[in-house]
Amino acid sequence: MVTLGCSKNIFDSEVLMGQLKANSFEVEHESTKGDAAIVIINTCGFIDNAKEESVNTILQFADAKERGLVEKVYVTGCLSERYKTDLEKEIPEVDAWFGTRDLPRILKTLKADYKHELVGERILTTPQHFAYLKISEGCDRPCSFCAIPLMRGKHVSTPIEQLVQQSKNLAKNGTKELILIAQDSTYYGLDLYGKRNLAELMEKLSEVDGIDWIRLHYAFPSGFPMDALDVMRINPKICNYLDMPLQHITDNMLKSMKRGTTKQKTIDLVNEIRDKVPGITLRTTLIAGYPGETEKDHEEMLRWVEDTRFDRLGIFTYSHEENTGAYSLNDDVPQEVKQARAEAVMEVQQGISFEINQQKVGNTYKVLFDRKEGEHFIGRTEADSPEVDNEVLVSASESYVRIGDFAEVTIERAEDFDLYGKVKA
Ligand code: SF4
Repeated sequence: MVTLGCSKNIFDSEVLMGQLKANSFEVEHESTKGDAAIVIINTCGFIDNAKEESVNTILQFADAKERGLVEKVYVTGCLSERYKTDLEKEIPEVDAWFGTRDLPRILKTLKADYKHELVGERILTTPQHFAYLKISEGCDRPCSFCAIPLMRGKHVSTPIEQLVQQSKNLAKNGTKELILIAQDSTYYGLDLYGKRNLAELMEKLSEVDGIDWIRLHYAFPSGFPMDALDVMRINPKICNYLDMPLQHITDNMLKSMKRGTTKQKTIDLVNEIRDKVPGITLRTTLIAGYPGETEKDHEEMLRWVEDTRFDRLGIFTYSHEENTGAYSLNDDVPQEVKQARAEAVMEVQQGISFEINQQKVGNTYKVLFDRKEGEHFIGRTEADSPEVDNEVLVSASESYVRIGDFAEVTIERAEDFDLYGKVKA
């Protein structure tokens, strides 16, 4: 099984692997052994770079098949969902193409049965101590730059009972941290319960024995369920952490992007979130070079990033995606200007991150250790999500920690993005 793209794809691959294992397939994730008879590639179709990576990976395994190194190559996921008709013609070596909601059909093609009793059981590709929990699929939002609804369909929430059962299964196998993911996690429950129900979901998940940290990703700014913040503030198991992609800040860009919010509402929301959950870690994602973005828009974004001082920030350059609302606009910002603007924002953010990190020197934090690398044990505080945020490095010659365990670490030195410390005796 090969997985490209986002944590939602990782989740889907893990579910498929669980089903295949239950059907007596020997399953591996991104094995380097090169001895697999069957390869399934779970692709990403989000933006140019991701699509290119997916196509190259397919071609790599198509070539391996031609050379008799693998028997079957199957492709699933967003790129396949979006471009199946063209890809079938262009890469005939692939045995079958599947969409993003095709699990039963994949299993049927592999002469495997869909094991209903396994709902929620999966083979983790992450270290056992943390796991992504996909709380819903699809998205009902009209963001003009985004192709995800084309590939993932309408928003469908997973019932709370199923998510609690999944979490119990995970905790039973040693998972301590749940990372809640969706296309839009703040929409949770509207389709199923007729109301935004994220607060209740987080409460219920926090009652699962063995789960210590619950982390919220992919929140959407407009219609934000403020009661979720009360749960976050009060419940020690819910990390004071929020990932909320905001994409841009100027009114004309937000309007053209169909984000359903304004500059002032965004600023007010960020202030309200920080008031409601003091010390919360805020992560956001932005887009540079959206059609019509002027130098003035860019300057305004830079000023806002300087003023807001997000704890964590990532930025993409705009990708002109067919069949999205923005595709009818003129992609008028040259690629090098998009790139330069993204780099300028990250430069500002690097400075902010360095300053914020300096304030952590001397403090002691609860750290969950993910791996050992070279001379260091590497972990994360409550303020850091795996793969995307900062890390805490502890010298292995000074301290010993078990991977997957928590330990109290006193920070001795801080860099732009990483912290160095010692395990408290
Ligand atoms: S909320 Fe907007 S950006 Fe996010 S997946 Fe939905 S349409 Fe795309």
